[in-house]
Amino acid sequence: MPRPEKQRMVHSPPLFNSFKPTGVARNKLVPIMLSLDEYEAVRLADYHGLDHAEAAEMMEISRSTFTRLIDKARLKVSKFLVDGAELSIEGGNIHFRGNIIRCMDCEHMFNTSFERAFTVCPSCGSTRLVDIAGGYGHGRCCSEKGTGHGHGRGHGGRNH
Ligand SMILES: [Zn+2]
Ligand SMILES: [Zn+2]
Repeated sequence: MPRPEKQRMVHSPPLFNSFKPTGVARNKLVPIMLSLDEYEAVRLADYHGLDHAEAAEMMEISRSTFTRLIDKARLKVSKFLVDGAELSIEGGNIHFRGNIIRCMDCEHMFNTSFERAFTVCPSCGSTRLVDIAGGYGHGRCCSEKGTGHGHGRGHGGRNH
């Protein structure tokens, strides 16, 4: 499998990765998959209200790429709201800048870097910790990629 060349940076992993309408059986729902870069586009542009240039810079992609990304993401989110669907967040050619660890005992959540390994909850001392980035299949790959913030690889506005 060829390595995809263009990676997008996502600030931190989403806390929730599956959504469905109340009271509808899962097998009656069409699945919609929102990729992690599409999620990040919605988070930056709609949740935080950043303009496309700022958001593109944070994800280390061109503004035109960001515009296509947010358009795709908004269409999916609107279909989820209007048609009803099972929406899951997964995949995408991304790495996370930072991780989030959740304690299964006290529900405490803490932001952390990939370099720093936690084995006990700083709040209650529990060892039952959930690695949120790990749930998306990320970890070591992000610590290798995530440190090079802003080394502007190919901001060419490539069309495809
Ligand atoms: Zn705890
Ligand atoms: Zn990664």
